[in-house]
Amino acid sequence: MDNLSLVIASGNEGKIREFKKLLVDFPFDLLIQPVGLEIEETGNTFRENARIKALAVSQKTGHLALADDSGLSVEALGGAPGIYSSRYASSDKERIEKLLAELKPFPNRKAKFECALCIASGEKVLIEVSGFCEGQITFFPKGGNGFGYDPIFEVSELGKTFAEMDNVKKKHFGHRGHAFKLLKPELKKLLNFIRK
Ligand code: IMP
Repeated sequence: MDNLSLVIASGNEGKIREFKKLLVDFPFDLLIQPVGLEIEETGNTFRENARIKALAVSQKTGHLALADDSGLSVEALGGAPGIYSSRYASSDKERIEKLLAELKPFPNRKAKFECALCIASGEKVLIEVSGFCEGQITFFPKGGNGFGYDPIFEVSELGKTFAEMDNVKKKHFGHRGHAFKLLKPELKKLLNFIRK
């Protein structure tokens, strides 16, 4: 039987590489979303934004589409930066400085990362999963690995920031790794269903 096409709804090279690795054992022909396709993330949650992207790309291409949305929510800041994590300031350094400054008056440093994944076909949402990682915001950046808010997010279970972990550890403890773990069995079920 022919492989099914699955479009990765992202223009981000790093994400595309990560998704390709995740899906290596699945019989999909992986495609990348059309160049120049801009989708407005108008949702109020990570889940809604992942859904908006997967539906839009599936409808545009006529194939199954996989989208994600992720970010950091800080309890004392009412969940900010949340879905605005990438738009919070204009560089990783500025985003970190802004978050540390805004959190300064609060003793509560609790935060969590979330990664929502969605697979859609045409108008239908077929799979939705969310992975989380609980932790706290440090008082200053620690570690040199990773990206984004990694240097100031300390994983509760380990007492280390994401930026102090190698890729394998981050994948094991991280929100994206958890979401991928939940996605795999759902994808297997979906493929069995499609091929019946
Ligand atoms: P998006 O999923 O590409 O919309 O990512 C949103 C933003 O959340 C990123 O630009 C980062 O600022 C932040 N973010 C998401 N995942 C991580 C992570 O694993 N480490 C650090 N920052 C992250």
